[in-house]
This record gives sequence, C-alpha cells and structure tokens, in this order.
Amino acid sequence: MTMPFIDLAAQQARIRNQLDSAIGRVLEHGRYIMGPEVKEFEEKLAAFCGAKHALGCANGTDALSLALMALGVKAGDAVFVPSFTFAATAEVVPFLGATPVFVDVLPDTFNMDVESLKRAIAFAKAEGLTPRCVIPVDLFGLSADYDAIIPVARENGLFVIDDAAQGFGASYHGRTVGALADITTTSFFPAKPLGCYGDGGALTTDNDEYAALISSLRNHGQGADRYDQQRIGMNSRLDTLQAAILIEKLAVFADEIEERQRVAERYSQGLKGRYGVPTVPEGLRSTWAQYTITTKSAAERDEVIAKTKDAGIPTAIYYPIPLHAQVAFRDFPRDPNGLPVSDGFAARVISLPMHPYLGAQVQDKIIEAIL
Ligand SMILES: *Cc1c(COP(=O)(O)O)cnc(C)c1O
Repeated sequence: MTMPFIDLAAQQARIRNQLDSAIGRVLEHGRYIMGPEVKEFEEKLAAFCGAKHALGCANGTDALSLALMALGVKAGDAVFVPSFTFAATAEVVPFLGATPVFVDVLPDTFNMDVESLKRAIAFAKAEGLTPRCVIPVDLFGLSADYDAIIPVARENGLFVIDDAAQGFGASYHGRTVGALADITTTSFFPAKPLGCYGDGGALTTDNDEYAALISSLRNHGQGADRYDQQRIGMNSRLDTLQAAILIEKLAVFADEIEERQRVAERYSQGLKGRYGVPTVPEGLRSTWAQYTITTKSAAERDEVIAKTKDAGIPTAIYYPIPLHAQVAFRDFPRDPNGLPVSDGFAARVISLPMHPYLGAQVQDKIIEAIL
C-alpha cells in the first residue's frame, strides 16, 4: 500500500454514513443550485469562525475575485500580495485590471513581512499607483500577523482581505481566522484542511454592505429577482451537493484541527535541531494545511527528496518558484529591496505527509527516513 500525502479516504470512512445520507437528501429534493443546504452551511460556517456573514461560491480563486469586486478594486489600484504563495492570490488582481505588488515574507512564519509591505506601499505610490488593498495569506495554515498588518493598512487607506484558503479555522490570539479582516476568503478544494468533493469556496465578513454585494456578484449581479441585473457579476455559486458534504465535514473539523496539532507536534519533536521546523508564535494555532520543513541548502533538500522517495514517502514542494519570478508575474512591481526570503524558501522548503489521521507509527517511519 502506498502512503497518502493527505488521507482523504480515512476521513471519508469516519463520516461515510452521514455523507451518504446528506447526498441522498439532495438527490431527493433536487434543488442542485442554491438549495437549502447552501444556506444551512453558510450559517454554520459563519458561526464556526464568529463572522456575521458567510457566502459560498464556486472556488477559492473566485472568492478572492468576488472580494476585490465588492471592495471596488479597479485599474490603477495597487494590491499588495506575498510572493511566497499559490498563484491564485496574485492572479485575480490583474484579472480585474489592477496591479499586484509583491511583498516578501518572514523567515520564521512564512507569512507577510510588514516592513516589506511598507516599502512596497511607498514604491507603489512613487510609481503613480493608488494603494487600495492588501491580501495577507495564512500560509500552510498559520495566520498572518494581523495585529501588525492591519494598523499599517489603515494608515495607508488599504482594505484587508485574508486569503485563508489554507488557514481557515486557525486561531489568532483568541479569535478565529475568518473574522480577522474586512473580508476573508477560503477554498474547499479537496486537499485543503476543510475540503469538499470538487471545487468550492466561501467568503466571510462582518460588513452587511459587502455581504449584500457579494451575494449579488456571485449570481450575475442579480438584484430583486433573476431578471433584474444591477451590476456586472459572475456565475460563482457553491453547489448544493458540495454544501451538503461540507456540513458533514464541518461537524468534525474542530476535532480534526486538534488531531493536526498532535501530528505537527510529533514532527517538530522528531525533526527539530536537524531541520528547520515551523514556528508557531505564542497565542496562535495553525490548521497545519502543510507541515513544511526547511533545509540548509538546495542540495540538502535534494538528499531529503531522495531518502523519502526510496522509503516510499510522498513529499511536495510548496512552492518551487516564488510568484515574482514566474513568467506571468515577473513584470509587476515589488518591494524595491527585493524578496530574498521568498527566493530562499523556494529553494529549501519541503512539505511532509500531513492529515488528522496520520498514526504515530507511520509518522515515526517518516521521521526516521528523513533523519
Ligand atoms: C488553494 C488556494 C487558493 C485557490 O483556491 P481554489 O479553490 O483552488 O481556487 C487561493 N489561495 C491559496 C493560498 C490557496 O492555497
């Protein structure tokens, strides 16, 4: 048997009966688009993170687009994004005609460096752009430092969108990711900590006006009824079937986040000293979307890859090329001091199997192979 990187089958076995019933109910009522499960899931998702509103949509990338559209981001605006993240965080910005400006990350948490953000804002202004929005990412499941970022955003008139595709449900000084920024976006791609069985996404916010706009924008800019178009929108709804599945997965999500702490702790105990292990600042709790170690050099990473491959252990590199170096993004502006931390991580990070159902024995085998 091959070892899974993320064991979705173990999770499915745990809640299979509930999933079958939930899917069965949707097949019975047949309301596949915006059926009753969508509203039920949205209410439960909002309650889970403590936000006033939650709105489902088609995927995590659309969630980011919908957030930028609701905030009125347009051509000439600068949107600040980390370079060390998945492409979707930056991709939505030029798609809406605005300019992404790349910011470096911190060497300990993988998350946005507020000093780099300040330099990028000054640079964007000097280039004649209008600083409008910052999108910190909760990379690998750990919340970005909102207490440092939000004051800088406010001083500069920026909206804050939390890209919580990986960190939704994480804890930040007693609060839950989903209720920290003006708008939070997440993804239910199957491999995310809270995933469905296809594509799905959501936005959460405390702001009534943004919630009403997002509700309209995700459904063709609809107003009072289906044939009343108030604005240019898109078709980006969460399927009823996916919502029904997500209701059952959300019911075990808090427990799974707890189990992920156990797995992460065991890795860190076994690997610290030999490799760079993830830092979790005091008062924060990660969802551990990924457990990512850092080697001293690219050559050492190659050795780790070879050792795990021989032992039949799957690994992954998130991310091998920082966005500012990608063909699609390399002509966009960035922190004028460069992005050395992002460049360094791309050459030295490696992510290990991580999921709530990873047993201690299997984990010890992984640790042993890497040591
Ligand atoms: C997965 C991911 C997204 C995009 O989500 P999709 O549902 O795949 O569109 C956006 N940002 C980050 C950081 C992600 O990890």
